[in-house]
Amino acid sequence: MISEKIAAALDEAEGRPMSPREDVVTKIMVSGLNRASQLGWVQDCPRHLCLLRLAPDKDKGFDDTMKRRLREGNKQEALMRADLTAAGIKIVHHGRLTWEALELTGESDDSVVFDDEYPIDYKTCSSAMFKRIERAQSYGDLIRSPFIWIRHYPAQMQAYMLMLQKRLSVLFFKDKEGGARYLMDVELDQKYASFLIEGIRYINDCVKKEDPPKAEMKEACDACGFADHCFPGVERGASAGNLEIVTEETWLMKLKEYQILIDRGVQQTAKEFDKLDKEIKEEFRGRRVLCGSHLIESKPYFVPFYDVPKEEKEKYLKQREQFRTSIKLAAQAL
Ligand code: SF4
Repeated sequence: MISEKIAAALDEAEGRPMSPREDVVTKIMVSGLNRASQLGWVQDCPRHLCLLRLAPDKDKGFDDTMKRRLREGNKQEALMRADLTAAGIKIVHHGRLTWEALELTGESDDSVVFDDEYPIDYKTCSSAMFKRIERAQSYGDLIRSPFIWIRHYPAQMQAYMLMLQKRLSVLFFKDKEGGARYLMDVELDQKYASFLIEGIRYINDCVKKEDPPKAEMKEACDACGFADHCFPGVERGASAGNLEIVTEETWLMKLKEYQILIDRGVQQTAKEFDKLDKEIKEEFRGRRVLCGSHLIESKPYFVPFYDVPKEEKEKYLKQREQFRTSIKLAAQAL
């Protein structure tokens, strides 16, 4: 069948180039240095950055679906570059950058040339994600995003600016489905850059001593390829027995936001926490669900009530079904 031949040829061709994720790990294995694109992990888990250098082979990497999605993103990024050129904007590429004293390396996508050169990075995303990004007023909103890969973008740009000695850079987002674009300036932020530099120094020290920080379960573990290495034997995702597995992006997002509010310790006061809590509990009422890193168990319980005149209560005692719902990190619960 000709269709099968075409499909096989495409599969083979797609398998040939490395996925971006594998590429990052390979580059770290070869260079033995910290990568600019991974720098955002300083704020989420320094252990992740240590393991990338000390035990890169333990990183599980992305599954095939994610690899395919990333490959599509790469193709779109080439088109974004072409759009800039077609608009008459000059682009230069600086190749590999290294900051030896910090053991940091990386490669900015490009720099756009106006009165000066400004690093630019191309980012593609789904329409749903694009709408969220578009609502961000500044890179500060990106740093606070509930989505780990989004909150890491500004750190990556800080690294490029530091290595290229620039004070301004640009993030160029594109909606893969609808084609809309959104451009955001990212300034060199002294306070944030200093925080990142201190983080890298700490990581370099841990790497030198071959002593990474201890593993602690947190929201970031959900997006980390070292989860099986850090928490061996903990069942995750679809392998977790006979639970109902929920993979809808909406609920994954809501639970991430929920966990971030808990990690920030604001659940007692934040109205958004109460709203999310109610929403999640209503959705999963009466179910046992694994959604991302969260196990949600909603079990009925019965309380007695009287629906008869007061004087005859004892005679007509009944039970009403109610639900107790707990939401916790699955790794701690299973
Ligand atoms: S699994 Fe969690 S603790 Fe381990 S490296 Fe990843 S984010 Fe850090």
